[in-house]
Amino acid sequence: MSKHKSLIFAVDFDGTIVEHKFPEIGPLVPGAVEVLKELTDLGHRLILFTVRSGAFVDAADEFCAKNGIKLWAVNFNPEQWEWSNSDKVFANYYIDDAALGCPLILPPKKGSRPHVDWAVIRQHLVCEGVLKPL
Ligand SMILES: [Mg+2]
Repeated sequence: MSKHKSLIFAVDFDGTIVEHKFPEIGPLVPGAVEVLKELTDLGHRLILFTVRSGAFVDAADEFCAKNGIKLWAVNFNPEQWEWSNSDKVFANYYIDDAALGCPLILPPKKGSRPHVDWAVIRQHLVCEGVLKPL
């Protein structure tokens, strides 16, 4: 556990952890597993935050487990009911390819969609004091 409190990260799936290929699961986005593992190794918590539902969200949940991404919850914050009735899922940080300002890598192939640039996300987390420089 780091000296910081346990932070909560809401992390999108398609375009963030994996490349866009819904309803299938695309290849892992480079760096996603490594950064997310670093966070959970420090005691931070991950909420998978996706519009996938039913069998599609179950597949994403299983995919994360298989790839060593330890999720605290899926599409909800298990402690939030203690202080809010809001439908918004509380997190300290949201990582989502659709978030304005999220660093993205443009795909080399024409017609495919950009995905999260985890190297830059990691740099931001270093600047925030959450992760140590490599
Ligand atoms: Mg997305």
